[in-house]
Amino acid sequence: MEKIRMTTPLVEMDGDEMTRILWQIIKDELLLPYIDLKTEYYDLGLKYRDETDDQVTVDASLATKKYGVAVKCATITPNAARMPEYNLKQMWKSPNGTIRAILDGTVFRAPIVVKGIDPTVRTWKQPITIARHAYGDVYKASEMKIPGPGKAEIVYTDAQGHEERVLIHEFDGPGIVQGQHNLCGSIESFARSCFNFALDTKQDLWFSTKDTISKKYDHTFKDIFQEIYDAEYKEKFEAAGIEYFYTLIDDAVARVIRSEGGFIWAVKNYDGDVMSDMIATAFGSLAMMTSVLVAPDGTYEYEAAHGTVQRHYYKYLKGEETSTNSVATIFAWTGALRKRGELDQIQELCAFADKLEKATIATIEGGQMTKDLALITTLDNVTTLNSEDFIKAIRATMDQM
Ligand code: NAP
Ligand code: MG
Repeated sequence: MEKIRMTTPLVEMDGDEMTRILWQIIKDELLLPYIDLKTEYYDLGLKYRDETDDQVTVDASLATKKYGVAVKCATITPNAARMPEYNLKQMWKSPNGTIRAILDGTVFRAPIVVKGIDPTVRTWKQPITIARHAYGDVYKASEMKIPGPGKAEIVYTDAQGHEERVLIHEFDGPGIVQGQHNLCGSIESFARSCFNFALDTKQDLWFSTKDTISKKYDHTFKDIFQEIYDAEYKEKFEAAGIEYFYTLIDDAVARVIRSEGGFIWAVKNYDGDVMSDMIATAFGSLAMMTSVLVAPDGTYEYEAAHGTVQRHYYKYLKGEETSTNSVATIFAWTGALRKRGELDQIQELCAFADKLEKATIATIEGGQMTKDLALITTLDNVTTLNSEDFIKAIRATMDQM
């Protein structure tokens, strides 16, 4: 069989721990035998990020801007425990934070729904897609430990040197402060990508913030969405028979649980981080959630929503068997390959991506799955496979198709 040719390279960002192990097996078993895979490889593994003073993350982001499509493996965001483990020079920032700060845009996260893995929330019938703003707020915050009594203020100095001050707090003892920011331009492109994605997928769009408490910060998000909706999207939404709906974040949470699903829920950066894990777990497994960063210039970066599955990796290092679910990582590859195929008009590449996704779902629905799914499936006669055998089972399904 002749391999599928590619014309433009995909930006490939390798990562850490168990997902780095899966990454290689996926390439060897499911991609390289079928595709003349063209990638520009960046090693975002923590060791190499440390060696390059994190320059590799910046280079990978710039390459993504250049080529338009990237696929990324999960990566460690270092915390205190990682400093001695990897003998780090610095507690490097979250690679995803760096990538998002360079590319801007919105992260859309949707669960992969399969028969036999039923949502914990019984009313949910359709997937719920989380649209997470990918710029600013707590991910770009400046923080300070306040050692003792004193005054903390927000100071803005305009181009002419005029100052505007707002008191944060008069401390009479030690404490902490944090300064967050966002950009109207980024919020505008967040709004537009959400409205466009809703029109593309013909789903209602919900948006929620805490504007009652945050009367300037969160309220600006609400106002920008409403202005753009009224000026640019209202008629298109009405024609498509879909709705834009704003509500407070706590009200939204209650409504989401009571809903049947089948809509996009747009949220700020932190809310999206937390809520997407909740939605993914309630739909079945964190390992069944895909994630795509869509930048305003039409750049796409695909990845799994879960992390590096550290606990499994430590078992793997001890030589113990692991049963780590590779579905979301496989779908990151298929998403990126399909997008590359669309942009370069390589029909075979798009068809291959469809086929690999179908084979993955058919393998699970046929009763072969990893342990996380085997524990919660409603199917009978299930075979629990280890990390590598599950990927090989998908290959066998694909070869039969
Ligand atoms: P995690 O890697 O998502 O794993 C949390 C737990 O969820 C696992 O211990 C496992 O549960 C289950 N799980 C997640 N993915 C799974 C899969 N594919 N197959 C089977 N089970 C899966 O989160 P974490 O342990 O909190 O974080 C580990 C590292 O990942 C951290 O260094 C963090 O910085 C990083 N991280 C990276 C990204 C990213 O690159 N996008 C996102 C989140 C976290 P059991 O152990 O019970 O089996
Ligand atoms: Mg998270």
